[in-house]
Amino acid sequence: MTPQITVLQTIGRELAIVWSDGHETYLPLEEVRKACPCAVCCGEPDVLGRGDKPQVRHTPASFELDSSEMVGGYGWKPRWADGHATGIYSIGYLRRLDPSAA
Ligand SMILES: [Zn+2]
Repeated sequence: MTPQITVLQTIGRELAIVWSDGHETYLPLEEVRKACPCAVCCGEPDVLGRGDKPQVRHTPASFELDSSEMVGGYGWKPRWADGHATGIYSIGYLRRLDPSAA
């Protein structure tokens, strides 16, 4: 079972998460943004299952967090300083981004 997020905040250029099991995650915002799971960033396969990863243009503002919110108790939705806000990171996905998490 995936632990819940107790605390989520940005510290400098990192996203800091404290989990309900006591684990702490620190992820560079740049990595978090590059892992954006939305259709724009990941591409959506067509009906035949073909889908190319689109070229995503990042600017320095892409890696700055403007604000973020928890949605529906299952996901985290960041709004980046470049206006990108379509990615919803599930709790489990965020946890898997942390290589040190069990
Ligand atoms: Zn995205």
